Amino acid sequence: MRDIPFHIDAAVGQARATTFELARGTIRTPLYMPVGTQGAVRGVHPTQLEETGAQIVLANTYHLSQRPGEELVDRHGGLHRFMGVSIPILTDSGGFQVFSLDKEVTEDGVTFQYEVDGNKTFLSPERSMDIQQKLGADIAMVFDECVAYGSDYDYVARSVDRTTRWEQRSKQAHTRPDQSLFGIVQGGFWPELRQRSAEAIAAIGFDGYAVGGLSVGEGHDKMCEVLDHTTKHMPWDAPRYLMGVGRPLDMVEAVARGIDMFDCVIQTRHARSGVVWTWHGRVRVTDKRYRKDLRPLDDRCTCTTCTTFTRAYLHHLFKVNEILAATLASIHNIAWFQQFMTAMRLSILDGSFEDFRKEVHATYPDGAPEEPEGEGKPKSVGGRPAQVADNRPRPTSRKPKPRKR
Ligand SMILES: [Zn+2]
Repeated sequence: MRDIPFHIDAAVGQARATTFELARGTIRTPLYMPVGTQGAVRGVHPTQLEETGAQIVLANTYHLSQRPGEELVDRHGGLHRFMGVSIPILTDSGGFQVFSLDKEVTEDGVTFQYEVDGNKTFLSPERSMDIQQKLGADIAMVFDECVAYGSDYDYVARSVDRTTRWEQRSKQAHTRPDQSLFGIVQGGFWPELRQRSAEAIAAIGFDGYAVGGLSVGEGHDKMCEVLDHTTKHMPWDAPRYLMGVGRPLDMVEAVARGIDMFDCVIQTRHARSGVVWTWHGRVRVTDKRYRKDLRPLDDRCTCTTCTTFTRAYLHHLFKVNEILAATLASIHNIAWFQQFMTAMRLSILDGSFEDFRKEVHATYPDGAPEEPEGEGKPKSVGGRPAQVADNRPRPTSRKPKPRKR
């Protein structure tokens, strides 16, 4: 573990703008981390990824340990060399994926069948630390149990205590001094279990602290309620990471409750089906209304997609199933969320966070359709246009600017 330098630059209530140092870079929060499950952000070259302003990229321990195996990554000198990225990397512990499979949980760890070849595999705190240290990311995550949504109190209570023991074992097994190790708070939807977990994990002591077990179908209000009961028991002077959450409204409300970091796959997953986020709401660029639209995806976005191409071009690429469509939309979504988080950070620094929060509520209200139904199949979402602002008066459409180089 490293003792990471951490600084709170400003706070508005519980919302913080922080800076911390990792082995490969300085991180500024609030922060959105794109996900490269299989060792790549799908369809996005590392150079393009870095141009989006992404500060950290995620990789999945479970997937990479199965294919190609951590030994091969280690022989490359670690994930940075293997993936060709120079920005910091965070690896999850593998727990989240494993607990969605058929498995047997004991005090030692978890036995499960690997999805691809059906082989029996065992994952434990020690095994997860061994894999993650070989992968060599800047941040490793402890091995925890992510309980299923709807698990009963007794099970979650036993699981919280076992997870605490697993996190102790994770810390003991972790020896790499250039890698930060984050603990994870569990506890399902019971305030006293969240508190018990948060206090126990804080007592073990980590470089940062994550909230796990959310974004499992509980909905926005329940998520906020759990955070209200959780973050107040977490250390104030370390990064706090809400795992798997990535919708604008969830993010701004989590930041309002003291969260600094997020990761989510919806940005890139939805991009591949033609759904992009903008400052005016979500846009489904495959919709026929964009066939002749000469505007960029977002008139305020500074990404290379928006400064080079029109909606009409993106629409065309999706219609002819050109793979570049997925790449360009992914670049925009990742970059847009970087700009969204930077705007949120600036609003904390200058004290206008509450105004920013109201704007997000107005643009991305709870209950607004978020999930496109099936990749590549454009559908009208819930009868409500996803791009509310498209009926509003706009400045004259602008021509795409040549790409800055
Ligand atoms: Zn853009």
